[in-house]
Amino acid sequence: MTPLQRQKFKDIIESELTLLKIEIAATEEDSKPTITPDSAIGRISRVEAIQSRHIGEASVRARKARAMQLERALTLVDKEEYGLCVACEEPIPLARLRLIPEATLCVICAASLEA
Ligand SMILES: [Zn+2]
Repeated sequence: MTPLQRQKFKDIIESELTLLKIEIAATEEDSKPTITPDSAIGRISRVEAIQSRHIGEASVRARKARAMQLERALTLVDKEEYGLCVACEEPIPLARLRLIPEATLCVICAASLEA
């Protein structure tokens, strides 16, 4: 990987991370309980409110996990090992890294681990 390519991935990771943090902040705001126990709303809408809160919490968790991976990628991006598959040590195709800049596995190893 050339220094210019590394710089580009750094930019991609940083902008994804910024976006993710904005989304996390927005979702956390949404998932705050807005209903007090004695509020006079129907049972169904209360269940719906609880369910949508759970969905909000799950997506916050997923986003936080991705943010951690991106932050890790950011610490690696200037190093030789960035862009190399941790399993087979082959370079991860740049097209894959553009989609998943935090990827640590090539397509083949990722597929064989998921199988
Ligand atoms: Zn691999």
